[in-house]
Amino acid sequence: MKHELPKLAYSYDALEPYIDAKTMEIHHTKHHQTYVDKLNAALEKYPDLQGRPVEELLMNLKDLKVDDADRAAIRNHGGGHMNHSLFWKYLDPANQKDELLVKEIVSAFGSIEELKKQFTDSATKLFGSGWTWLVRDGSNSKLKIVNLPMQDAPIMSGLQPIFGLDLWEHAYYLKYQNKRPDYIAAWWNVLKVI
Ligand code: MN
Repeated sequence: MKHELPKLAYSYDALEPYIDAKTMEIHHTKHHQTYVDKLNAALEKYPDLQGRPVEELLMNLKDLKVDDADRAAIRNHGGGHMNHSLFWKYLDPANQKDELLVKEIVSAFGSIEELKKQFTDSATKLFGSGWTWLVRDGSNSKLKIVNLPMQDAPIMSGLQPIFGLDLWEHAYYLKYQNKRPDYIAAWWNVLKVI
C-alpha cells in the first residue's frame, strides 16, 4: 500500500493572519506531497516494506535491508512525511488546551512562558533547515527541547514528539521572508494545546 497525503482537518485560511493560506496550501499540496511521493519511490524496490507504517521504517532505519541511497531517501522523505503529518495536527484550530501537558511543562520548565522562551531561543538559533521540537526523552520520560536537522524525525533518536515547529524557509518565507523570529512569535498563537 502506498503512503498518502493526509487530508487537512481545517481550511488553508484557518490560521490567518499568523500563517497565510497560500503558504499552507503550497506547504501541504506541494511540499508534503513531494515527501510522500519520494518516500513511495524509495520503497518501490522493496514490496515487503511498502505496507509498514512510516514510524516503523524510521525507528528501524539502520536495520532495513535497503541500498544506502534508498535508506537516505527513506530518512529524508519518510521523516518529512511523518513530521508534516504531525505538524498539521499541532496547528488544528479545534485543538483544546491540554491541561496535563501544561502541568508537566510547568513542572519541567517553571512556567509556560519559560518553555516558550527556551523553545524560541532554540528555534532562532537553528542554522539552516530543520525543526525545533518539544519531546519526551524515551530513556527517562523527561520533557526537553531539541533542534533536529533537515527532516530527521524525533523517534529516530528515541524521542517522542510533543509538538514541533517547521523552520524550513518554505514554512514561512512567503509571508515573513527572512524574519524567522516573527514567524516563531506568530506560531505560538496557532498552537492551542498549551
Ligand atoms: Mn515543511
